[in-house]
Amino acid sequence: MEKLIITVACTGAMTTKENTPYLPTQPEEIAEEVRMAYECGATVAHVHVRTVDDKATMALDRFEETVGLIRERVPDIIINMTSSGGLGFGDEERILPHTVLKPDMGTFDAGSMNFYKGVFLNSPIFLEKLGKAYIENGIKPEVEVFDAGMVWNAKRLLKDGFLQAPIHFQCCMHVHGGMEGTPRNLVHLVDSFPEGSTWSAFGCGPTADVIMAMAMTMGGHIRVGMEDNVYLSKGVLAEHNYQFVEKVVKLADIFKRPVANVDEARQILSLPPKKK
Ligand code: ZN
Repeated sequence: MEKLIITVACTGAMTTKENTPYLPTQPEEIAEEVRMAYECGATVAHVHVRTVDDKATMALDRFEETVGLIRERVPDIIINMTSSGGLGFGDEERILPHTVLKPDMGTFDAGSMNFYKGVFLNSPIFLEKLGKAYIENGIKPEVEVFDAGMVWNAKRLLKDGFLQAPIHFQCCMHVHGGMEGTPRNLVHLVDSFPEGSTWSAFGCGPTADVIMAMAMTMGGHIRVGMEDNVYLSKGVLAEHNYQFVEKVVKLADIFKRPVANVDEARQILSLPPKKK
């Protein structure tokens, strides 16, 4: 089986300090959490940013500061920036941080859906603009699928030239409004991917461990962090994101699945050598 890529998603857009007081939201805090997760085996940092009062934002200056600090502290980690940042941001403000900062990867949410109490809009026109911007700036999309129809969207965007093969998918399970985080649903998603695709998965909240184990044994990659789940075990909040990474590494050892280093992760994801 392919070596395992571990993505750490430290912050997200929806998790709040009320959910967990340990959530890193400020640039220094996020960079330090990423550094610690990297030391434990994470090779991809999925980055969201927050305002000074902890609200979700797509503000360029917050990305500049946060990503700048991560790059200073952990120069070789693969940076994967969100292109949603939460709900309700405009098309242009969602794309701008990517064209300026040119991260290694950027998320590409392959369809619209209900999202908890809101609506997560990713119109066909937005997806074409985002796909084009990623291609022009050498950014590898991480195609996030929350529901099976989004895989089909991605296949059509691939055929129309707005995505390029091989696609890297992120199976985002158990987000309210999307697909329930069950083993059968994950198998169905993975069975629908175009041949040659790579994929990773996570399950929100109570499904985190089941989806982690499924991805581990099916040859997928794994994302963990407070964006998706704040509990390390029942009733026990994680104090740091690296604790989730440690859990994955332990499981990988049990299943004899070696963890990829950054160079190996780049190769698996068909990323070019590190950007200077
Ligand atoms: Zn995210």
